[in-house]
Amino acid sequence: MSLTLYNDLTRKKEKFVALKELEENKKEVSFYSCGPTVYDYFHIGNARAFIVFDVLRRYLEHIGYKVNFVQNFTDIDDKMIHRAHQEHTTVAELAERFIAEYKKDAQALGVHEPTVAPRATEHIAEIINTIQKIMDNKHAYVSDGDVYFDVKSWPKYGVLFKQNLEDLEAGARIEIGEKKRDPLDFVLWKGEKPGEPAWDSPWGRGRPGWHIECSAMSSKYLGETIDIHSGGVDLIFPHHENEIAQAEAATGKPFVRFWIHNEFLLIDGEKMSKSLGNFLTARAAINKYPALAIRFFMLSAHYRSPINFTPEGLEQAASGVSRLRNCKADLDFAAKTKQGANNNFDLEKYKSELEKFNKDFHDALDDDFNTAAAIGVLFEIARLINTCLKENEILPKEFFELSLNILAMCDDILGVIGQDEAESSEADDPERAEIESLIKERAEARKAKNFARSDEIRDSLKARGIILEDTPQGTKWKKELK
Ligand SMILES: [Zn+2]
Repeated sequence: MSLTLYNDLTRKKEKFVALKELEENKKEVSFYSCGPTVYDYFHIGNARAFIVFDVLRRYLEHIGYKVNFVQNFTDIDDKMIHRAHQEHTTVAELAERFIAEYKKDAQALGVHEPTVAPRATEHIAEIINTIQKIMDNKHAYVSDGDVYFDVKSWPKYGVLFKQNLEDLEAGARIEIGEKKRDPLDFVLWKGEKPGEPAWDSPWGRGRPGWHIECSAMSSKYLGETIDIHSGGVDLIFPHHENEIAQAEAATGKPFVRFWIHNEFLLIDGEKMSKSLGNFLTARAAINKYPALAIRFFMLSAHYRSPINFTPEGLEQAASGVSRLRNCKADLDFAAKTKQGANNNFDLEKYKSELEKFNKDFHDALDDDFNTAAAIGVLFEIARLINTCLKENEILPKEFFELSLNILAMCDDILGVIGQDEAESSEADDPERAEIESLIKERAEARKAKNFARSDEIRDSLKARGIILEDTPQGTKWKKELK
């Protein structure tokens, strides 16, 4: 099988081939994902988008593509200005603070950093340039210091949202203060208002509208036609529809080949909203549940199905992560204590079982990156490893190599097992060295029947989230899932 992705532009699954692959035989993908508006912590619904597209990116890398992954920071818009006023600070300071907070949470959730993370305010020249091209091509007009996109001049409008202009027109209104000719027109440049950040432009001082930044920055870093553009379904209209109109009106070229959107995340069966009081930030979720469990939870459903965030769902996810981590920890421990020649173990059979799982895992991700199915395969692999460990006193070196390799391969893509602390080397982890020496001291205390000391060591480690398990082969330890 080869990778297929559901393309919202054509409303069907299509075989994915990158443009550079077609034109220059280069395995290189251009991938743009809409990033956060940095006026606050991002919410758990956004976390879903960041996590699922992180997996798509990792999978593309796994199958041999160089992925140029661009995700922007919206650091100027109405929400930014409003919040900065509320907090008696500047828009720039607010942006700085929440970009740092974004990075903390994204890292906790295992989301790799983008190749480029451009900020709107650092690309004003590119934005103005894009607006100028749209003006030159007669698809925008100036109205009292604002610049608007002229939707009626763009017959393809609605190509992604799949609605015709008349239907869209019926639902559109001109808000107070907007100076547009038609309700569907949208702002490209907003004229300066007192107390707001503003930049010089050919149309007077002002600031960019929200939609234009993605068109401008995506062309700058990825070229005029890009392979993949992703985001949540709530961005299809108007944000992504507008991005297409702007970019294509400026360049005359197709903007995006594959449009990919993740479905909503519900909280206890309801859409998240500030008015319902069920608004949950990723930070609050990370403080309440292990970050790996949140990531696992997001990947346990297909990205095009809605997912319901509930305490029970998160507990199940945490127990799923623990099962996988325990399997990996048992395997690591057995590699040190149970390794040797074993003629009764059918290595060839084991190899072919793993090969079958390897194929199933790739088939799942090739099928519109079905992470739910891929996680299912990962559990089957863990079950097989557990069975082999249980049924054999001794296992050959190849068993451990094959098993550790397949777990590492799956987890490089999914990122749900996490680095095993017990496996990092002592040299680069002083904490591990300290734990190992305490475990040794405890073993000696037990031998000397000094149980007060051995219990004391066990309790002090437990207080630090380190769990000990005594086995005939020695003491195993692991860190609790945090
Ligand atoms: Zn965007």
